[in-house]
Amino acid sequence: MKKIDYHLHSSFSEDCIIEMKEMVEGAIKAGVNMLCFTEHKDFDYPHEEFTFHLDNEAYTKRFLELREIYKKDITLYRGVEMGLQKHILKEVDDFVKVGNYDFVIGSQHCVDNKELYYKTYFQGKTMREVFEGYYDELLYNITNFNNFDVIGHLDLIRRYSDEAVVYNFNEVMDRVDVILKKLISMNKGIEVNAGGFFYPTAMTNPHPSILKRYKEFGGEIITFGSDAHVPQKIGANYERTMDILKEAGFKYISWFVGRKVEFEKIR
Ligand SMILES: [Zn+2]
Ligand SMILES: [Zn+2]
Repeated sequence: MKKIDYHLHSSFSEDCIIEMKEMVEGAIKAGVNMLCFTEHKDFDYPHEEFTFHLDNEAYTKRFLELREIYKKDITLYRGVEMGLQKHILKEVDDFVKVGNYDFVIGSQHCVDNKELYYKTYFQGKTMREVFEGYYDELLYNITNFNNFDVIGHLDLIRRYSDEAVVYNFNEVMDRVDVILKKLISMNKGIEVNAGGFFYPTAMTNPHPSILKRYKEFGGEIITFGSDAHVPQKIGANYERTMDILKEAGFKYISWFVGRKVEFEKIR
């Protein structure tokens, strides 16, 4: 089967220092056949150092140059990873509308305008409150915004806290179920994000038990994303992740061109 990586970054994302050309060459080296850049764009990111501004014009120009140069070796697509927060959904929609992307990931990196990565959101909360708040805001966001193709790393909350890794998230599974069913009814997908293998979670995001529920509820649209910010991680753990998907009942992996979903058989 083709190796398809639909979530990675280059220096057009503020938290990545690797030039796009190096990422493309890394992908070719990793045997990736199809790749979609999903550069970060966040509005009102609550951190003084990172704004996650995206220069879409420069991004597009460089992307088109590289797509042409490397067209014999790899098929490149242009996407975006939009940070979702409940107070900026209109801005997100306006940004996506004019971007002409192949693929749009909606990702929740903040809750209540507080950061997950730097753990400001976690302060003063029990784990149950942390998880409930995360999924409540995600449900609000997908209820009030639909200009995305998949929801990124659906349990990102587990990635950045040792306590969250061991938390029994079955306690909040009713909330996860509502979100999964809502996404299916909207004809939207989720991604299986292999970036989680490099964090204490040591597993995909979301956890295989959530992948399994999504499939059982009738979910079919699922993209693979390494979430690589360095060339070495592009396409990493692809085989292992395909095994997890097969185990969860999936027969196809999804990819998008011009916001339209396509399917590739898993092995
Ligand atoms: Zn993300
Ligand atoms: Zn990402």
